[in-house]
Amino acid sequence: MSLTEILSLYPLAFVLASLVLGLIVGSFINVLAWRLPRMLERDWRAQAHEILGLTPEPAAAPYNLLLPHSHCPHCAHPIRPWHNIPVLSYLCLGGRCAHCKTRISMRYPLTELACGLVSAFVAWHFGFGWTAGLLLLLSWGLLAMSLIDADHQLLPDVLVLPLLWLGLLVNSFGLLTSLADALWGAVIGYLLLWSVFWLFKLATGKDGMGHGDFKLLAMLGAWGGWQILPLTLLLASLAGALIGSVLLRLRQARVSSPIPFGPFLAIAGWIALLWGGQITDFYLQFVGFQ
Ligand SMILES: [Zn+2]
Repeated sequence: MSLTEILSLYPLAFVLASLVLGLIVGSFINVLAWRLPRMLERDWRAQAHEILGLTPEPAAAPYNLLLPHSHCPHCAHPIRPWHNIPVLSYLCLGGRCAHCKTRISMRYPLTELACGLVSAFVAWHFGFGWTAGLLLLLSWGLLAMSLIDADHQLLPDVLVLPLLWLGLLVNSFGLLTSLADALWGAVIGYLLLWSVFWLFKLATGKDGMGHGDFKLLAMLGAWGGWQILPLTLLLASLAGALIGSVLLRLRQARVSSPIPFGPFLAIAGWIALLWGGQITDFYLQFVGFQ
């Protein structure tokens, strides 16, 4: 029996395989979320120097997703492959560097665990096939974007735009919706938040959100079609208002301090993609339309 036959015959095997794959990808997403913004910043600095005609900065050591090799940020001790097993290594080492015993943030194993669980859930929800595979890719992209946006208020084009095109491409085969609905989803998704941005700016003179948010909603529309946009915006705004007010209480932060909207859009869009139809039906029944 081939591997594809096993995975399609035994749903549990597919769920478990996706869990393990998700844990490993989660480990890579930790690296990506840390390094990509720093790589982009280096790039932008170099470009700015060139445009302004400044003397280029001295060449620095290579910095990309592979180099330098993973190391402890405190003692620079290289991380051995057997210390890099998702979640398990963290538990075995008691959350400390194997060399200098400095505490390692809980965030890394939690990201790996979240990625594993989300991947297992997508596998269970869709079953073995193209839809599950592509939705795994989308979920990993959304997780990486959410982490980067939460840290840097930045949704990198290099992640958002390829997934936008991919959404249109997969729906040209009618994966989740028709190509027309996907196209209008991308256009309306972008224009909705673009309009909100400009209305807010004209009314208050401030930037209410980043341009990355328009592109992210366009990307979600490209995957789920325009039909998922109302629910996505509703859930994202509710969650944003709720968590924003909790954060304001906790940190007593100023009202004007920015709270990134990307993670809320990403989670809301993901929920709308998986259960949009059921949630809308339930709502319409609830208010008595059906
Ligand atoms: Zn160390």
